Amino acid sequence: MADRKPYQLVSREWQSNDTTFKVRGTEIGKELLMIAGPCAVENKEQIFTISEFLSKQNIKFLRGGAYKPRTSPYSFQGLKTEGLVLLRDAADKYNMGVVSEIMSIDKIDEFNEYVDIFQVGTRNMQNYPLLRALGKVDKPILLKRGMSSTIEEWLLAAEYIVSSGNEKVILCERGIRTFETATRNTIDISAIPMVKMLSHLPIILDPSQGTGHREIVSPISAAAIAAGADGLIIEVHNQPEEALSDGEQSLFLDQFENLLPILSSQANLRNKRFDYETNTLKPSFNN
Ligand code: PEP
Ligand code: MN
Repeated sequence: MADRKPYQLVSREWQSNDTTFKVRGTEIGKELLMIAGPCAVENKEQIFTISEFLSKQNIKFLRGGAYKPRTSPYSFQGLKTEGLVLLRDAADKYNMGVVSEIMSIDKIDEFNEYVDIFQVGTRNMQNYPLLRALGKVDKPILLKRGMSSTIEEWLLAAEYIVSSGNEKVILCERGIRTFETATRNTIDISAIPMVKMLSHLPIILDPSQGTGHREIVSPISAAAIAAGADGLIIEVHNQPEEALSDGEQSLFLDQFENLLPILSSQANLRNKRFDYETNTLKPSFNN
């Protein structure tokens, strides 16, 4: 008898085809999902400069934190509502979608007005009341992996959202805590093909929180695409040295521009799927 998984609706056994869904014209799970922007929205000039640049690179989704879960209560906590308004205004001007992190249930109605994709951060992956409430939302949920969570715990967190009614979940590997301190977190690249085996949900990578160093964001991004990731969420800043959060891991605009052709060179691997038994490439899970 095949071993039974503790999660059901998100499992590959439940649904053999990849989950795909359209957001603002992008078919997530099928087309590469590229989300980029600053860690935090800081002011109008910053977010408009970055959005204009990204839209010229044909990036369709803008990220930016408005409510920031900072480790220290003395660090910049985000512009809150004003940040969401600025994000939406900039995204509308440049015809982009908005991705931003929500931390509590009481902000769901506000976020619904401004974002296209709700982000659940690593610190809230096990905030079960929030996950259940987001199961009632009619927009995709980008669910980061908890920094100390196993893949099974992460898929069970996704199961909370899906079993509450929202099937549009995008998993996001963002690194986990290990004994290593040279990098901010340890990116679990193997989680990408492992999750693809276990689940039909799309999975993307956040190489910025995962590495903590802009110098290694690009090679890790390429590695994720080669491993079969459905997209990336990358921190980009027009003045990283002045950033109010996560400047050291934010790419300069020209670094981001140079990364895009490197990713395209891996794209031939992305739309294929490894057949894990024969170790050969197949066209996709849907064939
Ligand atoms: C972020 O995306 O800026 C962030 C805080 O992410 P994480 O929840 O992965 O730390
Ligand atoms: Mn950040």
